[in-house]
Amino acid sequence: MAAPKTIAIYGGTGSIGASTLDLVARFPDRYRINVLTGGKNIETLAVLAQRFQPDHVGIADESGYAELSERLKETNITIHAGADALNDLTTVDSDLVVSAVTGTAGLLPTLKAVEQGRVVAIANKESLVTAGAIIKSAAEASGATLLPIDSEHNAIFQAWTTTKRDEIDRITLTASGGPFWAMEMGAMAGITPEQAVRHPNWSMGAKISVDSATMMNKGLEVIEAAVLFDLPEDRVDVLVHPLSVVHGMVHYRDGSTLAQMGPADMRVPISYALAWPERLIWSDDRLDLAALSDLQFLTPDHDRFLCLELARQASRQGGLAPTILNAANEMAVDYFLNHRIGFLDIADLTRHMLNMIDVSGQADLEAILEKDRETRLACDHWLSAR
Ligand code: NAD
Ligand code: MG
Repeated sequence: MAAPKTIAIYGGTGSIGASTLDLVARFPDRYRINVLTGGKNIETLAVLAQRFQPDHVGIADESGYAELSERLKETNITIHAGADALNDLTTVDSDLVVSAVTGTAGLLPTLKAVEQGRVVAIANKESLVTAGAIIKSAAEASGATLLPIDSEHNAIFQAWTTTKRDEIDRITLTASGGPFWAMEMGAMAGITPEQAVRHPNWSMGAKISVDSATMMNKGLEVIEAAVLFDLPEDRVDVLVHPLSVVHGMVHYRDGSTLAQMGPADMRVPISYALAWPERLIWSDDRLDLAALSDLQFLTPDHDRFLCLELARQASRQGGLAPTILNAANEMAVDYFLNHRIGFLDIADLTRHMLNMIDVSGQADLEAILEKDRETRLACDHWLSAR
């Protein structure tokens, strides 16, 4: 029997990490976790490390080193701590890397894994939003393979069956619309963090749940799709589809549309990446289409969901604009989750930063990281001046 495929999970203690590990645990002969990293949750990381026995465990928070070492002292696991150490872990040879850190913190590990020529399953959309062009050209140079596991992009990846680009007219990403897609504008100002993180269909980390509620998630995904599939944003459509059954569609110029459907379960796209180019035989979850009589598709309301339009604007501007959008949104979501600003302020702050911060200049890695820092500082000033 062939040796198990080795898998490195960056951000293994989160929601995508849990879905990935759930699948891996079902196939111990087929997959082996060799690298597992997390941000600062020592408890979860230690429990997962005990269970999956990777060769290396990394924690971003340096102060967690001693406790993690103590917790894992009976094992042969090598422990690493600090952001630099996490970046260095990308040199460990793995057959597949799952990039599942949340936010901009995922950029450097993703890029470094791509530079090593690995097969990289990308959940971390923020890295593609800010540095998509750099990641794509690094993949071309190193021979790395990028497998999207964001569900909509995975759907497009599955339904994109041609090598002839001119056969494609456009693509559609569906959006659940989040918990508030039908709410009146007037009521939206009072939305609390607790309401915003309660997503109707998907169970996800806090940041992406708020992004779903503002529809910035779909905005980031338009940029992500434009990068991954090399299309201008006006050929990436968005439809609100509250049941989350159809995840993405590719529209061909012969009049055909191919769609991917499935349950709202991230293990479906993740399993696709784990087994690619095959399919993993793991799910008994059959879609009961007869029971889903009302597959609605609606045009998103840009007035109530300004974030989607802001992201399209940033995509058209290109260069450093998506970095400003992404950093401002990350800060705004953090302020919102900490009860420091209201729900509608997320779009306000992001728009303000896009209008105020200089977008000119080459979008190389250094400039992206610098623009990210500049935007975060400007957000903090904005907050303290309020
Ligand atoms: P999460 O918050 O549940 O988990 C995030 C992971 O990143 C955790 O392991 C955390 O410890 C780690 N982390 C956080 N900050 C870090 C830092 N500074 N350095 C290193 N590690 C750090 O998030 P999630 O929902 O699993 O989402 C992860 C990524 O996948 C996000 O980019 C999200 O947009 C994307 N995504 C998630 C889903 C989903 O269903 N959860 C779907 C599509 C895409
Ligand atoms: Mg998605």
